[in-house]
Amino acid sequence: MPSLTFDNVTKSFGKFTVINDFSAEIDENEFLVLLGPSGCGKSTMLRMVAGLTEISSGELKFGDEVVNDLTPKQRGIAFVFQSYALYPHMSVRSNIAFPLLMDNFRWWHHIPFVGGAVRRQLMKRSDIKDKVERTAEMLELTDYLDRRPKALSGGQRQRVAVARSIVREPSIYLFDEPLSNLDAKLRMQMRAEISALHARVKKTFVYVTHDQVEAMTMGTRIAVMNGGVIQQLGTPRDIYETPANVFVARFIGSPPMNIFAATLTDDGLSVDGVPVTNSHHIAHVLRSRDLQGVSVGIRAEKFSVLTSPVFTDPDALSFAAHTMLLEHLGAETVVGFKAGQAPERVDVGAAASHQLHYARIPGEQHYEIGANCQVRFKDSDIHLFHPETGERIER
Ligand code: ATP
Repeated sequence: MPSLTFDNVTKSFGKFTVINDFSAEIDENEFLVLLGPSGCGKSTMLRMVAGLTEISSGELKFGDEVVNDLTPKQRGIAFVFQSYALYPHMSVRSNIAFPLLMDNFRWWHHIPFVGGAVRRQLMKRSDIKDKVERTAEMLELTDYLDRRPKALSGGQRQRVAVARSIVREPSIYLFDEPLSNLDAKLRMQMRAEISALHARVKKTFVYVTHDQVEAMTMGTRIAVMNGGVIQQLGTPRDIYETPANVFVARFIGSPPMNIFAATLTDDGLSVDGVPVTNSHHIAHVLRSRDLQGVSVGIRAEKFSVLTSPVFTDPDALSFAAHTMLLEHLGAETVVGFKAGQAPERVDVGAAASHQLHYARIPGEQHYEIGANCQVRFKDSDIHLFHPETGERIER
């Protein structure tokens, strides 16, 4: 049985629909990443799972129980936010124990002095002590239990925030961009730690991010969202290798997948008006579907860029192009190019980056800007998308 089911879940704020008919089944132990641009509705989805935002229509189930009307507390979830407000005057131990103490608090414990005494008593209770220590161990915080948050690094503080939200041993773990306030190195370390936590607790994780590296490295499945609609739900590999539409193809991958406007010619196909050799197979696909044009997608790493083509490859497709931009990244070079021969004077400054196509090639190859070249690729590296709807065309 799936641990989390979204059944036509819709959320509107007034007339504005933020989530439109979201349906998905998430299995026990899955690490689902909700990925998409700012404002696409990721946090709203997570807040609906947590019970912090009401669902407008549709059903949300934990196991076989409909939870639409359950309070956040009744749902038994852990929620880790982007900004982790730890209590600065409390030790790491007390911060982690806090949710357990609150579960045992009664109204009169809020009376001054009474609360402090009750808290100290509760901290000595063996079940609470055990849970705090077990959670601290899981997040490698045992050595820091008696420190205050200000004596911890950013990554350690974020681990305390994670510990605090999981100490109640929830069945579902929710994360809302928990790493976006950390620097690149810490983010990498925390990515590995959250994946390790998932492997240890073996529960369902739902993780919101707009960072494709986090999505690709951590998720067992990714839901790519845009405008409140799931564009594709699949494994990181599925999404990279068989994107469902142009949006997904461009959202995942760096640089984004190249998309060429291609049209049928007598001999095959042309891209951006430049003939493509050996393209009769694709032309055949277009004719069989009554299409005069198509969007051709090719990943940057699938191109070879040849400035002096000394050999011919009978199986490769190719077209003439000229280089416009070079980014040396060490191990590889990103070559920005335009289809067609170089004009007499190449105005490099005039080329807006979004007008270029990109190839990623080994760093040891050298190029000049403004040079004519031949761009080669294989038939199997081509993705076809409908020119109007942008949907993938299976061949
Ligand atoms: P980000 O990555 O920037 O956090 P997001 O994908 O998490 O974005 P949401 O926070 O879910 O996006 O917001 C989705 C849309 O819903 C946005 O257009 C937002 O303005 C709108 N929205 C969110 N909360 C409310 C609200 N309480 N009232 C009205 N509109 C809202």
